[in-house]
Amino acid sequence: MNGQEFWFVVGSQFLYGPEVLDTVAARAEEMAGELSKVLPYPLVYKVTAKTNAEITEVMKAANYDDRCLGVITWCHTFSPSKMWINGLELLQKPYCHLATQYNMEIPNEEIDMDFMNLNQAAHGDREHGFIAARLRKPRKVIAGYWKDEGVQKRLAQWMRTAAGVAFSRSLKVMRFGDNMREVAVTEGDKVEVQIKLGWQVNTWPVGKLVEVMDSVTDKEIDELMETYRASYDFATDDIETVRYQAREEIAMKRMMDEEGCSAFSNTFQDLYGMKQLPGLASQHLMALGYGYGGEGDWKVSAMTAIMKRMGKDGNGASAFMEDYTYNLVPGAKYSLGAHMLEVCPSVAAARPRIEVHPLGIGDREDPARLVFEGKEGDAIVVSLVDMGGRLRLICQDIHCVKPILPMPNLPVARVMWQAMPDLETGLECWITAGGAHHTVLSYDVTAEQMKDWAANMGIEFVHITKDTTVELLEKELFLNDIAWKLR
Ligand code: MN
Repeated sequence: MNGQEFWFVVGSQFLYGPEVLDTVAARAEEMAGELSKVLPYPLVYKVTAKTNAEITEVMKAANYDDRCLGVITWCHTFSPSKMWINGLELLQKPYCHLATQYNMEIPNEEIDMDFMNLNQAAHGDREHGFIAARLRKPRKVIAGYWKDEGVQKRLAQWMRTAAGVAFSRSLKVMRFGDNMREVAVTEGDKVEVQIKLGWQVNTWPVGKLVEVMDSVTDKEIDELMETYRASYDFATDDIETVRYQAREEIAMKRMMDEEGCSAFSNTFQDLYGMKQLPGLASQHLMALGYGYGGEGDWKVSAMTAIMKRMGKDGNGASAFMEDYTYNLVPGAKYSLGAHMLEVCPSVAAARPRIEVHPLGIGDREDPARLVFEGKEGDAIVVSLVDMGGRLRLICQDIHCVKPILPMPNLPVARVMWQAMPDLETGLECWITAGGAHHTVLSYDVTAEQMKDWAANMGIEFVHITKDTTVELLEKELFLNDIAWKLR
């Protein structure tokens, strides 16, 4: 994607002589080439490093080169790790240690001490692992045979996570209006977020957006209407209302593209000069990969953009979501998630419909929106909260189901799910950790990816799984408070 790549750096030393080193280099090149065929980004073999200077040089180059999203290391042979200290200390990109071996099997007849000297990743990788542990360097360790599908899948996911790290560090968020009045969890320290996560979060006046909306031409609206027709069913005759959403979408996209923004927030409390709350407009922008947060929630907007980028093909099935209401019937306990309008159609089970209905909030005209059901499958919900002095990323495993009721009078997109470990315990854990009502729901990004992303950004990560209990979580949060104060 866009010429981005990962670098493969293989550790060794001079002890083995040129023949062994040539073999290591040739095999590393072969492995990088084969892995590039199945991974989402090319893996470029850089060097079989034998000295401190070589390692320092390649790490400095990795930092400087914008194409390089991260470094994957491996030790085919033994590489004394004091040589790695200076380079690893300088490395500012995500770092993965692939603990693998060129050969799968130990060859019974062929194995002798020459074979042992060439194929000694088992102790080379341990020496290499020690120094990153000693340096407290955030890194991903993936162990297993490099041709194994499971290993390749985890490498692919780690690459997408690293792409999310790079994306986060250059992310700009466009705010239209401020946060919804009096709401706490959507607030946050924008300076701290820029220091930790790289986000540039700034505000543009709604009046400016209205000016740009006025400059949108009928021809531009006609073109976007064609895109809407190709993607969605029209379940309304109120074409003018849909065209107004197209006008809003074109204007917001133009402003974001001019400023290099990939995410935006707005609020129904500040729609000055606008006839409709953007519904379809925000939903289609999310489908294109832009992040969105309602009620001024710029944190969830940025997380939506990042998690979309971390998903399949750089725009996965991830959506701005809000916990709305429960079905508390024994044997059928579910959460129903939705929003006033703005759920991304990337999570739809079937082709969405464009509908026009009144909106009881915001005091504007009836807005057009996409209505659909979320698909069935395992997913996560993720919330970033500002704990005062630090950021906490909360992730919960969920299983989405086909909604158990048709709900014919509910005029918004909806997703129904079972929270882990169960509705009540999951809810108690979520509330105990301080998780927001706004989340990013993703079928595409895994909890492991979010854990790795948080580690790279240097923020706290809390994972609510099928095994979590309230008591264990309370202990974890108590210890986390102490640990993060010490940092
Ligand atoms: Mn909301």
